[in-house]
Amino acid sequence: MSNSLPISHLEPRPDSQCLCGSGLPFKDCCSERYKEGPKTTARLHLRERRFGQALIECRQHLTWYVLCHRSHTLPLLKSGKKEGQTLLEVDIAVLADIVNLLSSCYQRLGRTDEFAMVLDHVEHFITDKRWQDKVAYLRSLWWMNTKSDRSKARDCISHLEIANCEDIDILTLYLDVNGEELSFDQKDELFRRIIAGTDEDDIRFQYECALGIARIAICETDEAIRLIEVAIDQFRSTEEDERSLYGKHLFARALQQLGILKHDDDLIRESAKAYSTLLECADECNLSDFAIADYLSEVGKCHDLLGDQIKAIDCFDKSAERYSIPLTQVYLASAYINKGDNESARKVLQAINADELSDVNRQDFALACSTLAAKTCNREDIDIAVAELKCVSPREPYFLNMKNECLVALLETKPSVQQSKLRDLLQKINRYLMLQPNFFGVGVNINNMLDDVDREDE
Ligand SMILES: [Zn+2]
Repeated sequence: MSNSLPISHLEPRPDSQCLCGSGLPFKDCCSERYKEGPKTTARLHLRERRFGQALIECRQHLTWYVLCHRSHTLPLLKSGKKEGQTLLEVDIAVLADIVNLLSSCYQRLGRTDEFAMVLDHVEHFITDKRWQDKVAYLRSLWWMNTKSDRSKARDCISHLEIANCEDIDILTLYLDVNGEELSFDQKDELFRRIIAGTDEDDIRFQYECALGIARIAICETDEAIRLIEVAIDQFRSTEEDERSLYGKHLFARALQQLGILKHDDDLIRESAKAYSTLLECADECNLSDFAIADYLSEVGKCHDLLGDQIKAIDCFDKSAERYSIPLTQVYLASAYINKGDNESARKVLQAINADELSDVNRQDFALACSTLAAKTCNREDIDIAVAELKCVSPREPYFLNMKNECLVALLETKPSVQQSKLRDLLQKINRYLMLQPNFFGVGVNINNMLDDVDREDE
């Protein structure tokens, strides 16, 4: 390319900050090593748990690519040739990919705060709006995944024009950070755009299920069942060895949800088996503790649904040993209630700090308290359940109905009427708790549970 500038002329000065965002002087960082060219083994190092090496290679790759961008793409853009635009698009995609991998390295090394600095640094590489949007996306993701701060995550992408956005990553993240505030119609529209726009089978499967599950919130259970059945049938028709780990995980989840909706124990058993298979390959697949804890919890739910509370409680305990997920404690309490051990259930619920729960988990917590109150009809349990129910303000009609039904039953003055109303509610609440209708509408969070390195390789 006659327009290109030699890369060496574009290097930072030896004492200037390195381009990779390490904060180190260029001469002490990528200076010599980037010249070896693009590094493609960072993923391999990550998978084989050589995280430090992965980080170094990733930094060199970033430095090398930024210099290539400056030497090839920028001159072309300046000359106004149309190849410049094409190259710019490629650069944005590749750089985002490298920065994303860099994020995995920092995460694996437990140095996530350093990654925030990298983002501040790379933001200025390209002035094009699409790159700025990508960086905003990565920053938002960082707030969600490492700080669990949804409102900061929301701020980072609040300026993006979602109506015209075709970037599937941004759309799924937008759903995650705004999910609890979006109306049914807004979610439905986003699900459909993601399904139409993605070229990944598992993403499509996930949002096809989400499309169905969302119907429950507006009390259209039959349509929910139909949509999920279609998605499951389509997944079943794919070759087993072509299914990604993530796809298998979604499949197990979908089977459980359909089983709950249809009161079909065979589907629940199939779901338990699918989760167990995933757990068997935990080492081989490099599953994170969070993922293992989540799967154990899901197997526990299946046992609880099938009436084997002893096994269920065992799974929930094992899950909590691995990684503390607040919802697992809610399920554990439920399993104790179903077993008839109200005392243990009460202890588990009392140990949960409700103020630390997300809005959605708080609803589940309130429902678990209501289940206990319905079971014991004890004054104190009822007071706690009523107080908790009053704390949550769900938007979905389905949950709102359930909350109101609970409140009416719990506040009924005639004890005999109260008890029969509460008993009717019990089954209903239990099923809802297990269903977790918000799950499929969430993309980034659950992607993150699985090893993203394996995922990107597939
Ligand atoms: Zn460097």
